[in-house]
Amino acid sequence: MKVVKFGGSSVANAEQISKVIDVVAADADRRIVVVSAPGKRHGDDTKVTDLLIGLANVVLENGDYEAALQAVVARYAEIQQELGLPADIAVAIEADLRGRIEDRGTHILHFMDTMKASGEDNNAKIIAEAFCKQGHAARYVNPGEAGMLLSDEFGNAEVLPESFEKLAALKDASEIIIFPGFFGSTKAGEVATFPRGGSDITGAILAAAVKADVYENFTDVDSVYAMDPRIVPDAPAIELMTYREMRELAYAGFGVFHDEAIIPAVHAEIPICIKNTNRPEAPGTMIVPERIYEQTEVAGISSADGFCAIYIDKYMMNREIGFGRRLLQILEEEEISFEHTPSGIDNMSVILESSELGDKEDTVVERISKELGPDDIAVEHGLALLMVVGEGMHYAVGMAARATQALSEAGVNIEMINQGASEISMMFAVKETDRKRAVNALGHAFFS
Ligand code: ASP
Repeated sequence: MKVVKFGGSSVANAEQISKVIDVVAADADRRIVVVSAPGKRHGDDTKVTDLLIGLANVVLENGDYEAALQAVVARYAEIQQELGLPADIAVAIEADLRGRIEDRGTHILHFMDTMKASGEDNNAKIIAEAFCKQGHAARYVNPGEAGMLLSDEFGNAEVLPESFEKLAALKDASEIIIFPGFFGSTKAGEVATFPRGGSDITGAILAAAVKADVYENFTDVDSVYAMDPRIVPDAPAIELMTYREMRELAYAGFGVFHDEAIIPAVHAEIPICIKNTNRPEAPGTMIVPERIYEQTEVAGISSADGFCAIYIDKYMMNREIGFGRRLLQILEEEEISFEHTPSGIDNMSVILESSELGDKEDTVVERISKELGPDDIAVEHGLALLMVVGEGMHYAVGMAARATQALSEAGVNIEMINQGASEISMMFAVKETDRKRAVNALGHAFFS
């Protein structure tokens, strides 16, 4: 049995939804279908989720929301007409949206989630109708009713453990299940959503709950690539990678699959396959618990801008018990999360996303100066992180040498190096302005 999830671009219009039906019909094991809200139809289009957030904001500001509401209804009406479905579906969707607006309580975040969730909810209803019209036995399932129970952190909810047992019943359904992604219900029966892009999470939870043989995640690229194809247009496709490699790569901007979505699949050891709705015959990328690897093989190189480093120098730091803890405690108290902490005998640095530090930079520097008495403290912005990831790196000799030589030949100054504790990754911090050159140089060193 397979759980299949289709992202926003795969369900953006009637043409794409017809492809979805063909893909599902082509394999009798594809029994549970998770769908996003309609995404972008072309480059400068707006996702329905973003239209809904805009609509909710106008409502909250007590503005005239009619135009914003009609913009959402028009997206569904277009899909309904092009699929040749009865017009009362679009009428019902308009009534549903008006109902959500009229019934809004005073809880802003909850109202926001109710509106956002309608994007996938109404799309799932239309898609279920479209399956039936094509002669497939299919049925829309409401997540809350099926047992997708979530914490009440609206907009950032997490699945509650009891959901898995409840959702397991879906495996016995005789029809194809069309399940809206991105949301569930709190124990109090209120709609709550995952973080943005959360339909991936819904799919992984369902795959784990029904113990699927594979979780297929359909998107609009043929596979995951070893490097960002915008930087390296001929980057090789990754056919097979492990969960650990995926996680280490996701860590620095490898945005094909939602970071959190991997976790339920990992716990249940369900292989994940990333595939293309527009080219379902392409093999895609399999993400599995273990794989056989060559020792010197690198799975991928990810990179992202937007990091900064706090450098702290203090003579005899190595003798001062608790220094690291107190430094990290300051960050904890300021609610700042960090990425890496490379350290030396008399110095320690913390690498974090610049957006995490935000307007707290002065406070943090002041607190470190006052509470830890360093000889020197500096904050450097404009850093990019590069991750070179591969299971085989754990055993291979000379991988760091190859990487540093490639960077030096490309004239890239390495600001910092850190080997992940897992030993399946190496991190390099470079100036943002050097990032693309660095990725190309590393790509050349490990893939040509
Ligand atoms: N529609 C939601 C979003 O745009 C969830 C998803 O597509 O996964 O974030």
